[in-house]
Amino acid sequence: MSKKHNFGAGPCILPQEVFQEASQAVLDFNGLSILEVSHRSKDFVAVMEEAQNLVKKALNVPDGYSVIFLQGGASLGFLITAMNMARENKKAAYINTGQWASKAIEQAEMAGLEVEVIASSEEDGFTYIPKDFVVPEDVDYVHITSNNTIFGTQFKSFPKTGKPLVCDMSSDIFSREFNVADFDLIYAGAQKNLGPAGATLYIVKDEVLGKSSLGVLPTYLDLSVHQKKESMFNTPPVFSVYVSMLNLRHLINNGGVKAQEELNNKKAELLYNEIDNNPKFKASVNKEDRSNMNVVFFLADEAADKERFDQLWNDAGIVGLKGYRTLGGYRASMYNALPLESVQVLVDIMKKL
Ligand SMILES: *Cc1c(COP(=O)(O)O)cnc(C)c1O
Repeated sequence: MSKKHNFGAGPCILPQEVFQEASQAVLDFNGLSILEVSHRSKDFVAVMEEAQNLVKKALNVPDGYSVIFLQGGASLGFLITAMNMARENKKAAYINTGQWASKAIEQAEMAGLEVEVIASSEEDGFTYIPKDFVVPEDVDYVHITSNNTIFGTQFKSFPKTGKPLVCDMSSDIFSREFNVADFDLIYAGAQKNLGPAGATLYIVKDEVLGKSSLGVLPTYLDLSVHQKKESMFNTPPVFSVYVSMLNLRHLINNGGVKAQEELNNKKAELLYNEIDNNPKFKASVNKEDRSNMNVVFFLADEAADKERFDQLWNDAGIVGLKGYRTLGGYRASMYNALPLESVQVLVDIMKKL
């Protein structure tokens, strides 16, 4: 098999070793296939516990927080977070940095909350991260999206809001070090940087659980239920949790998030340097807000160069470089497992154009 260079935006590339171990477990996981094993079996309960513990280890999760694996993706997370974080005022502040943030706002409104968008970069095509905003006194929480997967912006530091902070980290969790204690609730679909699609990770401060002002929540949407049942309220996404666990083992055995962050910085520097110095290309995003995970760029002269550039990267075995459908151009997603060598292949082609 000749391996391609996967710059796709999600599901993500995972380390080759993880693919190998995962495929082995499909055939033999203590005498059964991981695909047929009972989620209540001792062997799988151990996997779930290890996955939760490795999340805590990788991110230095402090005491007083729980790690939960659910289904439904970040898209259900938009609703779950709003419902669980709603307090007396039923009002929340959101920073709108792109399409996913907009969807989070929609779902909070569906949950019956009053949403105040305290900052937005929508008028400028979401090309920057807003930094000036005032947090109203009467909001129950503030919601941000750490990395804008579609437009390619990223919070480089997190705002101090004086209110419980909630964050959708779907597309950059485990890519860099950060302080979990700054957040009351973090959620992330597994398929961008953690594992195969299917699982959704929640890291929640225990003291916020069970305090929703919306009354009794639908059972699956109540995080306190899942925390008490240790992510085994119903059948969890067994395979996704298993492979996420393997990937976390791999991450920690290779220097953890710190080493990963250094590698991610190198990859980003290599590609942004080329975009900035090669007159055939341009970037759209505010320099200081550029995402290290999703690099959005354009040809300076599409009419002249598009056909040849597309041919070049296709021939080099690069996949997933096409820009988001409404945005055009190109998007190079460089999730954790994408090797530096793949970025070098792309940069070499850009030089050739
Ligand atoms: C991909 C993505 C989502 C949607 O995730 P699903 O798991 O498909 O629901 C939400 N937020 C961000 C930041 C994303 O990158």
